[in-house]
Amino acid sequence: MEANYIVVRFGELTTKGKNRKLFTQKLLKNAKEILFEFPQLQYQLQYDRLYIYLNGANHLLVNEKLKTVFGIHSFSNAYKFEKDLDVVKDAIAKMINEDTKTTFKINTKRSDKTFPKKSQDINREIAGHVFHHVDRQLKVDVHHPEMLVTVEIRHDAIYVMTNVIKGAGGYPVGIGGKALLMLSGGIDSPVAGYLTLKRGVDIECVHFAAPPYTNEFAREKVFDLVDKLRHYTHGQITVHVVNFTKLQLAVYDHCDESYAMTVMRRMMYRIGEKLAIKNHCLALVNGESIGQVASQTLDSMNVINQVISIPVLRPVLCLDKLEIIDIAQKIDTYDISIRPHEDCCTIFTPKAPATKPKSYKAEAFEATFDYETYVNECVENVETIVVDANYKNDEEIF
Ligand code: ATP
Ligand code: MG
Repeated sequence: MEANYIVVRFGELTTKGKNRKLFTQKLLKNAKEILFEFPQLQYQLQYDRLYIYLNGANHLLVNEKLKTVFGIHSFSNAYKFEKDLDVVKDAIAKMINEDTKTTFKINTKRSDKTFPKKSQDINREIAGHVFHHVDRQLKVDVHHPEMLVTVEIRHDAIYVMTNVIKGAGGYPVGIGGKALLMLSGGIDSPVAGYLTLKRGVDIECVHFAAPPYTNEFAREKVFDLVDKLRHYTHGQITVHVVNFTKLQLAVYDHCDESYAMTVMRRMMYRIGEKLAIKNHCLALVNGESIGQVASQTLDSMNVINQVISIPVLRPVLCLDKLEIIDIAQKIDTYDISIRPHEDCCTIFTPKAPATKPKSYKAEAFEATFDYETYVNECVENVETIVVDANYKNDEEIF
């Protein structure tokens, strides 16, 4: 028997009171866009569940996509029946006969309290029917059954399920507004982006490129990373590519080598903030992790963070590199991130950057050139590209 439905359970949404409807509708919208390859699916949103009628679609393929929808706690492949217990009993006996060798358990949940039989009685009745119709020795095991059959009696129908698949958790993307992710080609920033999306905050990305010092492989890497991240959204992510070369060269002309990194990152933050405001993003997000490199000591973060006033989210701040790598592997960005490339930061990396920079020194270096003009130029000339399902065929990107 092929499952014909998917029953989706919401996670933390259940605690959100009045906002619940907003949450579930956002989740439905995101799910539809992530499942766009299956136009035959039909959706029915109820108070505490989303029911998806497969309408001929392969449930295994749909399961894989559904695992990336944030806001889903778990889901089950299901069989929908009219409210006729005899039909349900026969079907369950058949399922167990086909798939179970040793033990089973029937777990009935009766959300329709007008249904004339109690859950315990239904469990017993179905189990009895199974024993009668299966031609080998099977036992009921209430603790560790080989097959757990859940029978949900709802107002409109009875659903029978034999699996529970863990969902992506978190909140539906977009419910928490939007932030601008500073995306390098490294390991940390895509993970920071994923974790932000998981909390329901949508993202746009900004990437700083320094052509001709950085090449099209570095660029391709960034877009391949975005292509992975977009699967956790509603299907598309906007990327802003900043040509950083002139400003970066000016920084290196006007700053002592030990301060070049600090000043360069202050410039990135300034540009990031302007782009964020322009694009309705309420915060910057980056892959900084305390102590990872010279620019990520608390002293450095202070001096760098000072130049802007919107919040900077650092989702991987307290994770070890190995923990970040684990997530990168899980979301399939790791292999892209470790492709060799030149990042604008790595090319100009000074040999001995200050680990305890002082604001007044950074300001003194910045006062020696008209950096604002460069910053504004970077913002005005930004190249904006939407990465969606067609991106590999889009010749304009490369
Ligand atoms: P990652 O941190 O993503 O692994 P990385 O280690 O090369 O890359 P760092 O030098 O640690 O980058 O920079 C810290 C953070 O600054 C990055 O996580 C990213 O958010 C941001 N960043 C660095 N370089 C760039 C860039 N070229 N474009 C956009 N953001 C960048
Ligand atoms: Mg890093």
